[in-house]
Amino acid sequence: MEYDVKGNLREVLGLLPEGVRLVAISKFHPNEYIEAAYEEGQRVFGESHEQELSRKVESLPKDIEWHFIGHLQTNKVKYIAPYIAMIEAVDSLKLLKEINKQAAKHDRVIKVLLELHIAAEETKYGLTLDACRQLLEEGEWKEMKNVQICGLMMMASHVDDQHQIASEFDTAARFFDEVKAKYFADCPAFCERSWGMSHDYQLAVQHGSTMVRVGTTIFGPRVY
Ligand SMILES: *Cc1c(COP(=O)(O)O)cnc(C)c1O
Repeated sequence: MEYDVKGNLREVLGLLPEGVRLVAISKFHPNEYIEAAYEEGQRVFGESHEQELSRKVESLPKDIEWHFIGHLQTNKVKYIAPYIAMIEAVDSLKLLKEINKQAAKHDRVIKVLLELHIAAEETKYGLTLDACRQLLEEGEWKEMKNVQICGLMMMASHVDDQHQIASEFDTAARFFDEVKAKYFADCPAFCERSWGMSHDYQLAVQHGSTMVRVGTTIFGPRVY
């Protein structure tokens, strides 16, 4: 193996404070890399393409907790609904409804995060804070028995300015507190703040992250 997956994984885990979970982002990496991390004890992995994920799920250990972290088209939900543990990037009511519908067919409750768009970049997906407020305020989600909203997810801007990144994390953390108080005060499951990637996860855990999504630092550069 060209890349010391086990060593890198240990290093990342060693830098995470207690209570912060690692989602090892394995997209575009081969099964042998995932198996190496698995042997080291890692059980939570994240993927962003439905077909690639489905292939991996078939051939890898069944006790892996798979997170879908990419932009998910509604017509793809049905393929991952039987097994996905968490869908991290829910950015519309339409998608949330579809997840609820497909989860019901399998008699499951699928955990989801609402994805926020806070970064300065135009291209990133996600709900603006106001769109997220509106979705929660309208309340249709309360009737959905087969999804559980477990928190928020976001990506900071891809910049070198640590102050900007930190301030985006803080914005997300304040927004988490706002919606937690308003809609989820009695819901212990609403507890996740998924932020921090390879280049900013150490900063993220100083700014409220409970779940970091780290790929490159563990598995090396992706070959597309
Ligand atoms: C690819 C990806 C990651 C991991 O990025 P790295 O820089 O390789 O750590 C995290 N989150 C999302 C949403 C991604 O698409």
